[in-house]
Amino acid sequence: MHFNAYGGNGAELAAALVNATNVSPKVLAVMLSEHGMLRTGLTQAQAHELAEWRHKLAPVFGERDQDIQIKLVNELLQITASKPHVSAHDGREPHLHFFSVDADIVSRAKDTTAGGLAMAISFSDGHRLGRCDRTGCERVYVDTSRNGRRRFCSLTCANRVNVAAHRTRHVRSGSRN
Ligand SMILES: [Zn+2]
Ligand SMILES: [Zn+2]
Repeated sequence: MHFNAYGGNGAELAAALVNATNVSPKVLAVMLSEHGMLRTGLTQAQAHELAEWRHKLAPVFGERDQDIQIKLVNELLQITASKPHVSAHDGREPHLHFFSVDADIVSRAKDTTAGGLAMAISFSDGHRLGRCDRTGCERVYVDTSRNGRRRFCSLTCANRVNVAAHRTRHVRSGSRN
């Protein structure tokens, strides 16, 4: 896994998994590759296991109670982390692993996502693991903005909320435009 202060590709992968609307083996394999993982081929059963895993990842995002957020992430680490070690496998730069590179893709994906979330909370504000503020949108994100004030999953959601707020203001003030 390739970490930075915001959890690197592990935290981003966790968000992508939580947001996924299609969890077929094919779609998940592409998603895992896009987040820097190798040997991402999945069986149907493995795809199912990852689809289940994201239900454990989801509550970490948008959790405003720090104690609860920490507890949730420690539960994830309890399941995944066994043997932290540095590896430069496959010609990559040295990076941290909590699991053997020989482990199956599900173990590696669990390890990477739990580790990413743990890093994000440990090295920056846990609030950076956010959930969209637009009512009805459950999408999550990793806030890598400089000021850490991101509120929405996308520009689309931000615009929809801003347009609605703009309308409300005008209705209240009796303005016609
Ligand atoms: Zn690696
Ligand atoms: Zn949204």
